[in-house]
Amino acid sequence: MRIPIMAGNWKMYKTPDEAAALAAELKPLVKDAQGVEILLCPSALAIAAVGQTLNGSNILLGGQNCYPVAEGAYTGENSPAMLKAAGCSHVILGHSERRQYFNESDAFINEKTKAALEFGLVPIVCVGESLEQRESDQTFDVVGGQVEKALAGFTPAQVAGMILAYEPIWAIGTGKTASPEQAQDVHAFIRGKLAELFDKATADAVRIQYGGSVKPGNVDELMAKPDIDGALVGGASLKADSFARIVNFVKA
Ligand code: PEP
Repeated sequence: MRIPIMAGNWKMYKTPDEAAALAAELKPLVKDAQGVEILLCPSALAIAAVGQTLNGSNILLGGQNCYPVAEGAYTGENSPAMLKAAGCSHVILGHSERRQYFNESDAFINEKTKAALEFGLVPIVCVGESLEQRESDQTFDVVGGQVEKALAGFTPAQVAGMILAYEPIWAIGTGKTASPEQAQDVHAFIRGKLAELFDKATADAVRIQYGGSVKPGNVDELMAKPDIDGALVGGASLKADSFARIVNFVKA
């Protein structure tokens, strides 16, 4: 039984004060949510303020990225140990914006995933194809390759505790959502790939979030699909009422 997880990726939005205010507004709107995990990933600078606001609530805290060593001379970076110490339980890795603007490779994402686990963070590993790749029928090759490379060298037990996020790049921040059927096809493919790379029990345990313009108006039909285990939400997580509606999705 996979518990759905709804995560808000606040990207580079909200000052610490604004982020704490948004978390405070969200808290009462989701306090009665049952059978769902809730995660907020503010900017690194806002983690402390949001963490204070969330203290004692049912909302978890996560980072948006990390550098794959505990500490060192890596100006501008944050380590998984630091995220953990700041109260994070999760970290988003390999988001397409990181791959695109910061040239993150699959090998680097694999290193980060290893470091995240080592320091006790649950990695949320993002994969997804571009529009050009989808239109030239490369979706499964691209996504399958990303999954295989990100998870290289892990044991089935380690993988079972991870979260994957399928985020078609053409659907992120564009208002274009993959149809529930398109998303389900790729989620089922990813689960099959996990079974092939590890085993069926591991594949059945891994939660696979969908991300790409998830909103109050489309979350219910996405969540009705058997292999969609939650959402990674950008834009719609920046408003308390819309993210609360996503958390409180109506089960089919
Ligand atoms: C994201 O940032 O991971 C995302 C899916 O953004 P949006 O919901 O705005 O498309």
